[in-house]
Amino acid sequence: MANRTTIIAGNWKLNKTAAETRRTILELRNKLAGLSTGAEVVVFPPFVSLETAVDAARETILQVGAQNVFWEKSGAYTGEVSTTMLEALGLEFVLLGHSERRALFGETDATVARRLEAVLGGRLTPVVCVGEGLEEREAGRTGEVLARQVEGALKDVAPDHIGRVVLAYEPVWAIGTGKSASPTIANDAHTLIRSSIAAMFGRSAADETSVLYGGSVKPENTASLMRESEVDGVLVGGASLDAASFAEIVRAAG
Ligand code: PEP
Repeated sequence: MANRTTIIAGNWKLNKTAAETRRTILELRNKLAGLSTGAEVVVFPPFVSLETAVDAARETILQVGAQNVFWEKSGAYTGEVSTTMLEALGLEFVLLGHSERRALFGETDATVARRLEAVLGGRLTPVVCVGEGLEEREAGRTGEVLARQVEGALKDVAPDHIGRVVLAYEPVWAIGTGKSASPTIANDAHTLIRSSIAAMFGRSAADETSVLYGGSVKPENTASLMRESEVDGVLVGGASLDAASFAEIVRAAG
């Protein structure tokens, strides 16, 4: 089997001040002390807490990422943040195309592609989120939607950059609903995502791309999701806000 990186990630969304961020990371550090894991463990706090997060995470296994980034490096783009700025903070990861960005802030496959191109021009690791809505799943359109989103996001990626891209399958109907996809549904969707990557970049590139599952991941369902052959990690929203539950997820992921 391909040697894919395991990633356990916590998307904090619009939660936690800088002081709360520091407290949660210090708590996480204590709860994860002594843990030997081959996984990368990442938290994604809001922009204003990133510097504090990087500082608090020093000399721990925790890495830090941003929840979004703009494609231009500088200029008249009020309210935006560039890859250069995030790299200067010492971040490792950035989320792109989260379904909340798509549904609430006008993100499209085309804008995800532009952000991804900018990120790959630097040294951050992008985590590109894709996933179908409930109506799309019920209409039997999951494969078509995932293919469109993966192809749309990756269309400008150079072949020698695909190895740096991480995908996250986040079915919209599972996010924040308490209704996680079953391990089989997640595994099947990851297989579809890998087929799209294979069609664009070849089978071995697809086999080496980490694909995370996100959507109502909790300590109780982590191990069963992680047992699936195509699931390489989890992207956790709500359950990552509490240090005890996120630490349990990291331990359950093995
Ligand atoms: C998310 O928003 O990335 C997410 C997976 O949220 P939750 O775990 O709360 O469903």
